[in-house]
Amino acid sequence: MAAFSASPLTDMLIMQPTAFCNVDCGYCYLPNRTDKRRMSREVLEAVFSKLLPSRLIGERLAVVWHAGEPLVVPPGWYEDAIALAEAHRPPGGLIEHAFQSNGMLVDGGWVEFFKRAGRRISLSIDGPAWLHDRHRRTRAGQGTHARAVQGLRLLQAAGVAPAVITVLTRDSLGCADALFDFYAEHGISDVAFNVEELEGTHMTSSMAGASVEEAYRGFMRRFIARMRAAPEAMTLREWRDATAVLRFGVADGFNQEAEPLRIVSVARDGAVSTFSPELLGFRDERYDDFVFGNILVDPVETIIARVLSSRLRREIRSGLENCRRTCGWFAWCGGGSPSNKIFETGDPSATETAYCRLTRQALLDVVLSTLEEERAFTATRP
Ligand code: SF4
Repeated sequence: MAAFSASPLTDMLIMQPTAFCNVDCGYCYLPNRTDKRRMSREVLEAVFSKLLPSRLIGERLAVVWHAGEPLVVPPGWYEDAIALAEAHRPPGGLIEHAFQSNGMLVDGGWVEFFKRAGRRISLSIDGPAWLHDRHRRTRAGQGTHARAVQGLRLLQAAGVAPAVITVLTRDSLGCADALFDFYAEHGISDVAFNVEELEGTHMTSSMAGASVEEAYRGFMRRFIARMRAAPEAMTLREWRDATAVLRFGVADGFNQEAEPLRIVSVARDGAVSTFSPELLGFRDERYDDFVFGNILVDPVETIIARVLSSRLRREIRSGLENCRRTCGWFAWCGGGSPSNKIFETGDPSATETAYCRLTRQALLDVVLSTLEEERAFTATRP
């Protein structure tokens, strides 16, 4: 078994056990989400036996099971997959497994699975039922909130405390208090906000348009004010990340999605992609399918060489340089997400997107002004 590489490149491996999802959210961007096929054992074996001993992998690796609903595949399948990963793990290394799920299929078997060390689960819940069920519905049009919250409670009762990711739509932006109260009442202490994006198969967004930015700022200001008033109750990913970059800036290579092979995504059939995970499964006139090889047949070194010499890599890099030259936020943003640039403008060398205006510029503005107000308040205290 190979020792660790001295210059590791990959810190996140996205694995698509299946493209299938049991719900049909209004803002979902995933293609092929009715395809029920599972990743084969041959693909799992090829991924772990070829990637883990390769020069791509360092001492820690996060394996994220996503790009479909991972819990439609049973726990026993993952026990085999994790055992395979362990069999090929270089000595002394650490592999953590994370699952992003809608929570609807959590039962006693899954609870036992997630009680074991090194396995984490985050649930997608968009707040109270009247908000969540507007967009997160089954194919028959039924709301999914009750089952998602039931899954949350089962996990919490067993001592597993899932983080919750909420997708913000235009409907959410007047609901900062309702969301905060929902998380507090349900014992949710680790929260993250995504925004509805123009992405993949989802080519409209309620978060586009002139009035949204001000509404988003108002939402974040109010939510952060509630959170800061009760700091022991809840942490917010956006606050954590923004305060860290405002304090320390971003280092070269900070932008995980823009660095070749920092994130490696493997599709159900073994196709390998990199940069933003959202690119997996899409086609584009200029970049074809964003795939650089198949782990079943291609040596890892061939895949690395294709990525490093690709047009996509060159154009993502010029996007970073363009951001560095033109945007005052670059020192804290690091140049944004290639997938949002591609899906919004068709061009990874673009700079500003609707996505970065909200999740980078407006967010950093709100966090900065909150910190300034807190400092002024502290300074005037006796
Ligand atoms: S905020 Fe937008 S334009 Fe500015 S550096 Fe980030 S991605 Fe580029």
